[in-house]
Amino acid sequence: MRIALFGDIHANLEALEAVLEDAAKQDVTDYVCMGDIVGYNADPAACLERVRAMDCPTVKGNHDEDASGSHSLESMNPVAAAALEWTRQQLSDEQRQWLRRLRMVRQVSDFTVVHSTLDQPAHWNYVTNRFDAMSNFSYQFTQICFHGHTHVPRVYVKTDKVVEVPAESVEIEDGAKYFINIGSVGQPRDGDWRGCYAIYDLEHKLIVFRRVEYDIATTQRKILAAGLPQMLAERIAEGR
Ligand code: ZN
Repeated sequence: MRIALFGDIHANLEALEAVLEDAAKQDVTDYVCMGDIVGYNADPAACLERVRAMDCPTVKGNHDEDASGSHSLESMNPVAAAALEWTRQQLSDEQRQWLRRLRMVRQVSDFTVVHSTLDQPAHWNYVTNRFDAMSNFSYQFTQICFHGHTHVPRVYVKTDKVVEVPAESVEIEDGAKYFINIGSVGQPRDGDWRGCYAIYDLEHKLIVFRRVEYDIATTQRKILAAGLPQMLAERIAEGR
């Protein structure tokens, strides 16, 4: 079994298609989506339908929640709020209902998936260091938990203490627990513009991260044509 873990797609259809094409070439057998299918970029409905058609375990991200609700977005940063207002108009009631019904946490095979953290999944906390990761580990009852949300691939390992190790290939060892951020398909923020996802090979107990080039010029053109903030087109090229 080889499982592709992907998320933070953020309505970037070109990146999503490129990642799924790459995964198919890597002999992936199953897919799990970490949420934030919509928000920021210009193809929310198409990305939602693409993921929905895959019928794979999917958890809810904060942008999925905000895009599918009708609450005020005033407290958000103005660029994200503008994109979410626009996204709400692009989705049908039925699509918004599908997003609204996504679960916060799921167990799949022998691991757990959540968009942000297991300790307070609906609070959308950001894990940026090992101290943040410690709070999660108290609530993690499987050996491995995958998450997203910060758009930065990271690997935290808990033995007698919690350490961060480079987000390269990770060999799963007995006696350790792993809390792994699988990066972002559609808006990476680690300085590398290419779409990011991970493959978990259950037989070999190995997780590898992959980076995939995509037609970013088309994505940028669509963002500008939709009247979304120009900054959103610029940041995807910078990986920020
Ligand atoms: Zn996100």
